[in-house]
Amino acid sequence: MFNPVLDTPVEFLKGVGPSRADVLKKDLGIFTYQDLLSHYPFRYIDRTKYFKINQINIDSQYIQIIGRVIGKKVIGDKRAKRIVAVFKDETGIMELVWFQSLRWVEDHITVGAAYVAFGKPTFFNGTFSISHPEMELYQNRQVGRGNLTLQPVYNSTEKLKKFNLDSKGLQRLIAGLLDQVIQQVPENLPAYIIDKYQLPDKRIALLNVHFPKNQKDLNAAERRLKFEELFFIQLQLLHNKQLRQLKFKGVTFDKVGEKVNRFYNEFLPFELTNAQKRVVKEIRLDTQRGVQMNRLVQGDVGSGKTAVALMSMLLANDNGYQACMMAPTEILARQHYASITGLVSDDLVRVAILTGNTKKKERTILHEQLENGEIDILIGTHALIEDKVQFKNLGLVVIDEQHRFGVEQRAKLWRKNVIPPHILVMTATPIPRTLAMTLYGDLDVSIIDELPAGRKPIETRHLFEGQRLRMFGFMKQEIAKGRQVYIVYPLIKESEKLDLLHLEAGIEQLSYHFPRPNYQISIVHGQMANIDKQFEMEQFIAGKSQIMVATTVIEVGVNVPNASVMVIENAERFGLSQLHQLRGRVGRGAEQSFCILMSSNRLSKEGKVRLETMVRTNNGFEISEIDLQLRGPGDITGTQQSGVLDLKLADLAKDQIILSEARNTVIELFAEDPQLEKIEHAALKAYLQKLNRGISFDKIS
Ligand code: ADP
Ligand code: MG
Repeated sequence: MFNPVLDTPVEFLKGVGPSRADVLKKDLGIFTYQDLLSHYPFRYIDRTKYFKINQINIDSQYIQIIGRVIGKKVIGDKRAKRIVAVFKDETGIMELVWFQSLRWVEDHITVGAAYVAFGKPTFFNGTFSISHPEMELYQNRQVGRGNLTLQPVYNSTEKLKKFNLDSKGLQRLIAGLLDQVIQQVPENLPAYIIDKYQLPDKRIALLNVHFPKNQKDLNAAERRLKFEELFFIQLQLLHNKQLRQLKFKGVTFDKVGEKVNRFYNEFLPFELTNAQKRVVKEIRLDTQRGVQMNRLVQGDVGSGKTAVALMSMLLANDNGYQACMMAPTEILARQHYASITGLVSDDLVRVAILTGNTKKKERTILHEQLENGEIDILIGTHALIEDKVQFKNLGLVVIDEQHRFGVEQRAKLWRKNVIPPHILVMTATPIPRTLAMTLYGDLDVSIIDELPAGRKPIETRHLFEGQRLRMFGFMKQEIAKGRQVYIVYPLIKESEKLDLLHLEAGIEQLSYHFPRPNYQISIVHGQMANIDKQFEMEQFIAGKSQIMVATTVIEVGVNVPNASVMVIENAERFGLSQLHQLRGRVGRGAEQSFCILMSSNRLSKEGKVRLETMVRTNNGFEISEIDLQLRGPGDITGTQQSGVLDLKLADLAKDQIILSEARNTVIELFAEDPQLEKIEHAALKAYLQKLNRGISFDKIS
């Protein structure tokens, strides 16, 4: 959809030119007219409202006041030189102050005249004042774009301000541009969709988002632009999904054979939960269609994803294919290996493990066995991705804790078989629905929303520093019952040194209250060598130590069913989803488990909400929704996928309804017209073609 007008480089716009264009590009990523038009205001100032001087308070934002300048004088000299005007209305007086452009003020601000002064008041020396107010003679109040209505406020930067492109400057540019090109802005949504959702058309929406006449117009404009933004993301995601399904045949698992059956009847030590059964069934249906599966399984910690993964891998084996399972850390890979080999026997399947630490000799043998098909299930870390690792016929890849793997790595796994293997991604981080639809909109999603029966919900308490001895007492009591305890300290990069000090002080205090030989303490933190970490972990896993002090390294993975107490130090410093992940390390056995959140007495409002939420609920999905409201989507997902979330206007925490509408619209659209052959979809088709031109498919997947 090349548009000769909108794709014009911004430098050609009147009032821009090469040097300003340069800063616009560098600072705001604005290259073209189109980019400038979609530099939306981040807020609006209500210029229909006038304040009286006696209504000003220390919280006042940008406001406008009608008054008369009743005096004006120059104060100070050299750099301190300034002009102070006394400004008066019927309710009081205040000051207007200028430090710059004094000459202009001398000439243009007339004592005795009435003005509209606009700016943000500050309180100084007992009076309110506005520095560098915008002044307009009351009698000449302009009625133009952005005046006397909701005035747009744009993001700008220091550099841009030096080029006179502060918010006001940008407003001028955008107003000029709109006047010049608005008639040439094409509608990019099909008319029937606009009708169905009663959206304003594109031109109206653009005019009203920048220069709304009233709140109602602004709301409608925003809704339309958010819809559009989300619609095009969904169009892309679902188009990719469709392409992938058309382009890649999948290996077909059409039978359930001996391995699955024997495992289910002879080996599985528990009854699957209904949720597990449902997900296994979804996977089963997905893998028999001859289309590659790309499925995300979301399930809270402890919901039993491993069993689901294993059943799926056995299904692959039953159909003559190998399977592999990739974990983000060595410890985790080993645990998976241990729990899976614990659930099956050698005569059922041959399971092997491959990590960065696998010895060269072993590795050589392993490579050979893989290529000969003598290994059915391979478990490991990133080492699995290496090109040297070749399978005889890989049919299924399970990726645990997906958010730690990039798209590139996923793609590499695909190429390990002629027909790309089915992909099952498992994440213990429940993701709010809106995020899942956006981040994983091209995947199918299964949810294990049920914990195995008989699991006692973890009891969570919040204690303050002053109650520490009580906490130690409780630990002793639990340890006396034979349980084990985790104590987790935050370790956050910026303050790593300080955090390490805290950690050390904590350990010292702990060793005092839990002396040897009665107690053994294991310690694991990020600065330790891997081999030492491993040793300490193994001590704890084997029950040789009762207390595991750790930084967040244990966040992912480890399964020690006998550990029933999780103490989180400085809990206020952790994010909600992190707290929930940590808590999930306990409550894995039959015993009642506890989570104790230690915090200082001073909590931010948000910190308080986090801790209260943790105490109130164990439901990961509920927690993730609150987390999204508190932090916004970027922080939740980390930086890796933030590109997808580069939304200009839509807010995944708030715009759930619009997102659902947009997604459903696209789903219906592809169902009706998969190839986008209808005339009303021509523009969408052109858009996708432009987007995908020259990109080979496995790069965009
Ligand atoms: P996660 O989803 O966190 O990976 P796991 O697969 O590690 O959870 O399972 C947690 C624990 O629950 C394991 O000890 C596992 O053996 C057990 N488990 C899994 N499914 C069931 C079930 N249906 N009934 C009872 N225990 C189960
Ligand atoms: Mg797991």
